[in-house]
Amino acid sequence: MKTSVIGYPRIGKDRELKFASEKYFKGEISEKELNETAAAIRAGNLKAQKDAGINFISSNNFSFYDNVLDTAVLFNIIPARYTELGLPALDTYFAMARGYQGDKGNVKALAMKKWFNTNYHYLVPEIDDSIDVKLTGTKPVDEYKEAAAQGVNTKVSVTGPFTFLKLLRYTGSKTIADYAPVFAAEYIKLINTVADAGAEWIEFDEPYLVHDLSTEDIKIFKDIYNTILGSKGSVKVLLQTYFGDIRDIYHEVTALPFDGIGLDFIEGKKTLELVKTNGFPEGKLLFAGVVNGKNIWKNNYAKTLGIIDEIKAAAGADNIVVNTSCSLLHVPYTLASETKLTDDYKKHFAFAEEKLPELKEIASLAVNADASVLEANRKLHESRANVFDAKVQERVKNIKDSDYTRLPAFAEREKIQKERFNLPLFPTTTIGSFPQTADVRKNRQDFRKGNISEEEYVNFNKNKIAECIKLQEEIGLDVLVHGEFERNDMVEYFGEHLEGYLFTEKAWVQSYGTRCVKPPFIWGDVSRKEPITVKWSAFAKSCTDKEVKGMLTGPVTILNWSFPREDISIKESTLQIALAIRDEVLDLEANGINIIQIDEAALREKLPLRKSDWYSEYLDWAIPAFRLVASGVKPETQIHTHMCYSEFTDIIPAIDAMDADVITFEASRSDLLILDSLKENNFKTEVGPGVYDIHSPRVPSVDEIITALTKMRTKIDDSKLWVNPDCGLKTRGNEETVKSLKNLVEAAKKLR
Ligand code: GLN
Ligand code: ZN
Repeated sequence: MKTSVIGYPRIGKDRELKFASEKYFKGEISEKELNETAAAIRAGNLKAQKDAGINFISSNNFSFYDNVLDTAVLFNIIPARYTELGLPALDTYFAMARGYQGDKGNVKALAMKKWFNTNYHYLVPEIDDSIDVKLTGTKPVDEYKEAAAQGVNTKVSVTGPFTFLKLLRYTGSKTIADYAPVFAAEYIKLINTVADAGAEWIEFDEPYLVHDLSTEDIKIFKDIYNTILGSKGSVKVLLQTYFGDIRDIYHEVTALPFDGIGLDFIEGKKTLELVKTNGFPEGKLLFAGVVNGKNIWKNNYAKTLGIIDEIKAAAGADNIVVNTSCSLLHVPYTLASETKLTDDYKKHFAFAEEKLPELKEIASLAVNADASVLEANRKLHESRANVFDAKVQERVKNIKDSDYTRLPAFAEREKIQKERFNLPLFPTTTIGSFPQTADVRKNRQDFRKGNISEEEYVNFNKNKIAECIKLQEEIGLDVLVHGEFERNDMVEYFGEHLEGYLFTEKAWVQSYGTRCVKPPFIWGDVSRKEPITVKWSAFAKSCTDKEVKGMLTGPVTILNWSFPREDISIKESTLQIALAIRDEVLDLEANGINIIQIDEAALREKLPLRKSDWYSEYLDWAIPAFRLVASGVKPETQIHTHMCYSEFTDIIPAIDAMDADVITFEASRSDLLILDSLKENNFKTEVGPGVYDIHSPRVPSVDEIITALTKMRTKIDDSKLWVNPDCGLKTRGNEETVKSLKNLVEAAKKLR
């Protein structure tokens, strides 16, 4: 039985790509040097997979920023505003990814959206009628040849045409149906170029197929692939799906002359049933995604072999390839980098590198079940220590319905709070973090490494907080923040302070571009040992007469940005976390913090991809979990929440049902579409749609901010409108931050 990997982490074991691209942006290294770093990462990834004996290894899954953006550039889908800058190719690419502000012009980046149900974000390519879709790039063939030179005949993996067309944003008059035949023709050219270079397999990634599909979608898919497969020549085509099952199109997919079909048996709730009831065509390979590409636990062999047996019975034994369930991009590189976790814990985990031998072992066990290997694996799964906490379980069991409701109702609270805080019209605030400059990070590192005492560490942060408060007062912001200098990451920080969590040193996963997050691991039942943020917030409050917002991460986001347990439901874990954060909210309130923000940046993350499952499988417990955190505070305490990165337009009622007093969210990258939805849904919560994009170093002008606010005022009542950036400022530099915030405050003042 053969093995396959859909994709591999691409940032480098020590995030080399991040550091090299940052140097490149600052002009400290050349394009050639950046390319050398990239080539070394690709070579290392290839070697790891080759040495592990993986049979189907992908090429073209590297990216300087994002694979969808790569696909857009490959087919010349570059909006004129970027080509007009007249930059070299790589810099045009980065201008699309990050925006550009310099002597050649001033343009914003493309919009960024969540990649399906992951915490990875892709850039949304834009196409208008003037764009001539044609294969102009050579990245797939270049990376194929590069791997071939290193002795690996890879499958060339490319974003599939259907998924790409569905993710595109159409800004002209042409539609997806107009473009489908054009893309089919260009994808054929792409197949020819890789075939000429010697590729045996090309993999089209079509995760979009796991959504609810319309008859029109199905028609477009069939038309495109009928064309492509009709003239693909001798190259074999693998249709790879992931993040769910393809129940709406299984028949059509299996009827088309693909040489291989990749199905997800981890997240695809109906995948096995589909194969069992409909069978699988003879003579094709079934790439069975049975090793979880999204979680860090060792595979449960008994369970996996059970699935494989059922697949064998339905599809035949000769055509199964043991595959990852999705790209390993979503897990960290290697356990080998973890020096602090003891083996008692480590033996339960498998990151990307450790999943490679697992694939091999499963493939071998499927043919020849070695009882001792199976027994060892069974014992391992039974032997997790320090998992259960009876007190936590009891508390969750005792949650009452009334604990999910805050009283009095919103309108009354709004009145009480307006009187209490007496803020000016269009109050200004930020989302929480201030720039994490080198000294801030060094302070944390020094403390972690034991190079400085706790007192030194705390004093440094207090100075930073005092400076930050002073700066915000000078800038003229209305509701201040402490700056989050003690936090590496909004979820990891809480994970580190909660019982039941494990954390790592280098378990980075990509979030957007070359930015990574280090999700903590939920190991057991979660609880809070002691107040987490109170001392920082209370200190900040002592530095000013203005209100200081306390800053917490919400339970849904903590859960969604952690690697979850697989032995209890995510709902159960979320409620445990909600109770812990609820205690923190009440402690902040008791310590004079009158405004508390509970970030739910990742609320949408685990929203089922099929709309039909949204409420029943997710929102019906996720929204109450948020309310549980906030329901204990006094009417005069103001609860904020914040969300970012993703589309909210379609879940506005659910967001309103969180019953926060104020919500700030990312809007600047998505052309404020969300505003219409707020109006349509009679949104009650006060809102601060971000007035500028913090993912890029660009400084927005006062006029630009006024323009954004003016648009907002047509949809949002003045009395409900807040003015803020669209996310935290921690990834930005000081200089651009101060300039941007000054402009923001000036814009609000002018409007007043
Ligand atoms: N409070 C967090 C910050 O400002 C929010 C981050 C986020 O939404 N991603 O950094
Ligand atoms: Zn945010």
